[in-house]
Amino acid sequence: MGGSTVLRPVDIKVQPAPYQDRVKVIQKIFTQLKRFHSNNHNVVRASTVWEHEVAKSSLSKQSYLFNASVLIRDIIKFKGNLDKTGKPKDMSAALIKKPEVLLQLRTLLVDEETLVRNDYIVKMYDTDPITEADSNYVECCRCGTKFDVTKILEPTVCQYHIQRKVYNRENKMREFPCCGAALESYSDMSAGCVKAKHHVFKWENFTKLSSVLPFKILTDIDGQENVLALDCEMAFTSKGYEMIRLTIVDFWTSKIVYDKVIKPLGEVIDLNSKFSGIHHIEDTAPTIHEAEKDYINSNMINKNSLLIGHGLDNDLRVMRIVHNNVIDTAILYPAGKYKSSLKNLSFEVLSRRIQGGEHDSSEDAIAAMDVIKTKLKIPLNKKSW
Ligand SMILES: [Zn+2]
Ligand SMILES: [Zn+2]
Repeated sequence: MGGSTVLRPVDIKVQPAPYQDRVKVIQKIFTQLKRFHSNNHNVVRASTVWEHEVAKSSLSKQSYLFNASVLIRDIIKFKGNLDKTGKPKDMSAALIKKPEVLLQLRTLLVDEETLVRNDYIVKMYDTDPITEADSNYVECCRCGTKFDVTKILEPTVCQYHIQRKVYNRENKMREFPCCGAALESYSDMSAGCVKAKHHVFKWENFTKLSSVLPFKILTDIDGQENVLALDCEMAFTSKGYEMIRLTIVDFWTSKIVYDKVIKPLGEVIDLNSKFSGIHHIEDTAPTIHEAEKDYINSNMINKNSLLIGHGLDNDLRVMRIVHNNVIDTAILYPAGKYKSSLKNLSFEVLSRRIQGGEHDSSEDAIAAMDVIKTKLKIPLNKKSW
């Protein structure tokens, strides 16, 4: 006890300061912690671990001494609070290690049965799981009219409301926020406040989706076990519902590692600008075929990747990727019977307002990622591991 305690710095490859300086810093940390704690073993451990953290994250002697002084100041400020493991409580977040986080992340992966229940395409099907009549007649996603999809580019009238109807408690009417049109409870008909020249549609079934663009299973693409958050923006085209922007964010650094506008394969009918935030696509933008090699490879999305997103089934469907290593915040945080909206989830969990106007896939990918970090108590500003 006392003066006989031996404090040794943990050896590291690049020493930010001479050994003797590091010993002095550990002694200072030890002295401060001892003022608040009697358990010598815990105090020795905390002093050593904390000096090591500071040494690892400092590039010069000057920054090392500065960071050490900040740590000592915090120990005094937080009255040397220690948690059960002997780490200073308010600093334990900085001690979170990658392998532990990876283990925790794996516990959040969605099992295959739940994926199927949530409309994920979990494998390459021989026979289609969704038995739609093999017909070219589809229902317009905006006005509900049934039309022949092979004639989608022939001008017609698609009259619809931009926003979905909402129930008004006061007058017990259902109203369209876009134009204020109201529906009596017995009526379901309202012509719509906007007219367009073409209808729009989405394929849901595997065979139809594959006929536009085949799915890709990632089992052949080996690579690092990275953790990536992603979000797509989509548009309606003559070929259905297509990806027009993709953002991928690295979980560990919070850096955007991919963010591009993608040129769809079909002719654009509705860029969905109000939601997608995309008003124009340059002719030089890459198609999905050209873009894919940049985001599907050993350093980006590969068979070992762990993907994070909100309602990722939609994103993976337009990306035509079959990949079952996913953490889906819409499944983790259901809103009653329904899927939660990322907008509400972001506000509830992060106190962060998103999607105030148009959507932004980078903002959305980061929000889903930060919801998971918050769940795992990882500080959102932690960028070094
Ligand atoms: Zn309307
Ligand atoms: Zn229509």
